[in-house]
Amino acid sequence: MAELHLHIEGTLQPELIFALAERNGIELPYADLDELRSRYEFTDLQSFLDLYYANMAVLRTEQDFADMTRDYLARASAGGVRHVEVMMDPQAHVSRGVPLETCVNGVASALATSEEEFGVSTLLIAAFLRDLPEDDALEVLEQLLAMNAPIAGIGLDSAEVGNPPSKFVRLYQRAAEAGLHRIAHAGEEGPASYITDSLDLLGVERIDHGIRCMEDAALVERLANEQVPLTVCPLSNVRLRAVDTLADHPLPAMLSAGLNVSVNSDDPAYFGGYVDDNFVQLRAVLGLTAAEQSRLAANSIRSSFASDARKAELLGEVRAWEAAAAEA
Ligand SMILES: [Zn+2]
Repeated sequence: MAELHLHIEGTLQPELIFALAERNGIELPYADLDELRSRYEFTDLQSFLDLYYANMAVLRTEQDFADMTRDYLARASAGGVRHVEVMMDPQAHVSRGVPLETCVNGVASALATSEEEFGVSTLLIAAFLRDLPEDDALEVLEQLLAMNAPIAGIGLDSAEVGNPPSKFVRLYQRAAEAGLHRIAHAGEEGPASYITDSLDLLGVERIDHGIRCMEDAALVERLANEQVPLTVCPLSNVRLRAVDTLADHPLPAMLSAGLNVSVNSDDPAYFGGYVDDNFVQLRAVLGLTAAEQSRLAANSIRSSFASDARKAELLGEVRAWEAAAAEA
């Protein structure tokens, strides 16, 4: 399968936070791992974002970014991920004094050897913080283009409510001109109209989350007809209280509606699991079948920006997995 909705900063595990703090001589506001872990009870998206940005303080050098990325790739590979489109938040690092080259080159260096080292093909996506002004995002995008950063596309993340897609029309126009893929978070905490606006105003090819489309029947019909990819993150939705429990998650209804959904981990160090952990819980709680799991895996591959040859290779693996599961 492919993982299409993954924030590399959200893979920063508590153990690595402490290790990097020591390496960089940074004093953490937590006495030990247990105290840090006790902060992982979130009430909403913002309560998570506060801790997420605070913990990034330990990321200083290229090596820090590379170590974090390599840890994720090893773990994802062990969980069955074969292609990943990694989002990173350049503004979250530049704003605290880390040069753009440091964060981009650190992550990119680990991605560059991933296929050889872990059998995982990769692409890098620069995600912009929607709670910052569009001009700030445009400035960083221009710098990324000027330095020839190895990015395949742009995304839009962070605090959704009150920061609608209409705020970023110029940013997405510029990305389109530069030949970049375009995706955006929409319909996680924000309303279904943010999904429509991301498609119509920003020209996105994929929606991250999108679960609140289920509140708008006409939109569901459109998303099904156009087979717009929705990168759903079930454990994230539970931890950030977008749904009450996993049993209440709309994933089964989204599948029934014919939507092009995939399962992803979002910020696995913070939300209780990687993509394989999501599948374990979906099988246990929602009774996800092997056929549904292979449909979700095939969706993730078709919805990726991988080459046609790579997609064909990975779809063949999904068919083989499904055949083996049917025999078991
Ligand atoms: Zn996300």
